Amino acid sequence: MHRITLIPGDGIGPEITEAARRCVEATGVKVEWEVVEAGASALKKYNTPLPRQVLESIRKNKVAWKGPITTPIGGGFRSVNVALRKSLDLYICLRPYKYYPGVRSNFKDVDTVVIRENTEDLYAGVEFEEGKEETRRFIEFIQEQKGIKIKEDSGISIKPISLSSSRRIVEAAFRYAIENGRKKVTAVHKANIMKFTDGLFLKAAKEVARRYEGRVEFEDRLVDNMCMQLVQKPQNYDVLVLPNLYGDIISDLCAGLVGGLGIAPGANIGKEYALFEPTHGSAPKYKGMNKVNPTGMILSGVLMLRFLGEKEAADRLERAVAEVIQEGKDVTYDLKPTPDDPTAVGTKEMAEAIIKKIR
Ligand code: NAD
Repeated sequence: MHRITLIPGDGIGPEITEAARRCVEATGVKVEWEVVEAGASALKKYNTPLPRQVLESIRKNKVAWKGPITTPIGGGFRSVNVALRKSLDLYICLRPYKYYPGVRSNFKDVDTVVIRENTEDLYAGVEFEEGKEETRRFIEFIQEQKGIKIKEDSGISIKPISLSSSRRIVEAAFRYAIENGRKKVTAVHKANIMKFTDGLFLKAAKEVARRYEGRVEFEDRLVDNMCMQLVQKPQNYDVLVLPNLYGDIISDLCAGLVGGLGIAPGANIGKEYALFEPTHGSAPKYKGMNKVNPTGMILSGVLMLRFLGEKEAADRLERAVAEVIQEGKDVTYDLKPTPDDPTAVGTKEMAEAIIKKIR
């Protein structure tokens, strides 16, 4: 019996979570769900989008499964997602991008896993606002220290990248490769320009790669070249490891290759805790309409089952999803030739069709 924290989330979250939970249960794996609220519904009830009991539940159960959460625009709270990642030190963002026959895409040969560093880089939140006194002083400091003149009316974001965080993310990529029978890790960077940040990341990557020599192949690519390579020869890429910002951008590029955000799953993993979720957001305009595709959420359940050691159940569920997509009959509007196709089924009905195929 696994105990898992379940966070239904906002917008379309509750309906895809319910559909996906039924799929996981249909594999026969025994799960006790601890359902907790975060996001808009929690904000109304508890006056905070991330009540204490959410973190307590994840810390206790170690594994959480989450629907998308709406990030309120304005207000003091930046994002529940960022808060969860930070509080639980979920430093690995894992996103597999795989082409499933039946999905409309020009790229039929993609099976790439993006492993993105989740805590540092330009997303660390160290920013200086244009016009502020602290910014003026910082600009002065740079002039004194480096002799470089930055325009007075600039805003500045800082890009911290550490050796230790780079080592641990690359280590995670190689571990993932070994555990999942992958052949190659590609480190992506811009070390020719940003020598002290991306250069450090690359140095860490090369150092870690040496320990895996003979077991997993290693190469590195400049991020601009990587974008071109991915749209020209995606089949050449297996596991990619990247600092935070490039990881974010390349993730969406890969989602585009395999047919959009509706089907891509994700996981945020740390030393102690793991949080699984779809990559798309809460699509508020479709809330409660039983319309959207539950696949991203279901495939994040597949990742979660693998993480829990339930490999065989995960394979069965993934196969069932792939069969339903390939048949193209019981699928939601986004997987039909046109979005207004009258034969599109709802979220629940697609999940039902998947459940029927689990053997
Ligand atoms: P979104 O992913 O919610 O939706 C964009 C569009 O993509 C939708 O209008 C819809 O056409 C399509 N779409 C998304 N999911 C789909 C699905 N399962 N099936 C079919 N079509 C689907 O992105 P957004 O509108 O930019 O964000 C909405 C909210 O979600 C924002 O508040 C954002 O901050 C939040 N968000 C949360 C997460 C998360 O919780 N991890 C991730 C991304 C965005």
